[in-house]
Amino acid sequence: MKLSHIEHIGIAVSNLDEAISFYEEVLGMKCYAVEEVKDQKVKTAFFMVGQTKIELLESTDPEGPIGKFIDKKGQGIHHIAFAVDNLKDALPELEEKGVRLIDRTPRKGAEGLNIGFLHPKSTFGVLTELCEDPKK
Ligand code: ZN
Repeated sequence: MKLSHIEHIGIAVSNLDEAISFYEEVLGMKCYAVEEVKDQKVKTAFFMVGQTKIELLESTDPEGPIGKFIDKKGQGIHHIAFAVDNLKDALPELEEKGVRLIDRTPRKGAEGLNIGFLHPKSTFGVLTELCEDPKK
């Protein structure tokens, strides 16, 4: 398994439009995509900085993962995502090394990426996502 770079940083926000305005008008980035990921119960907005994306996440359901996260911890960094070249093999490899997985097999995330989450209990409290771009 080889991680190539930080693919994105996921940030939980209560109000996506307000957060987009801040990133655009104050930080001077450009939002290039807004996408709803239904099975994650989130609406996402993407910004590019270098080769890393910022993924803003607004909950569409208080019972969804981001709704619960904000309820417990407030807004803030939700997860860090690394790019990996072969997710299908990386997940079992990590499990063999004793890492607790949230996803044992890849599933579809935003932007058509294949994704898998590692449990924060195994990663020093940081919810960690691995992403593979199937077009690469
Ligand atoms: Zn993510």
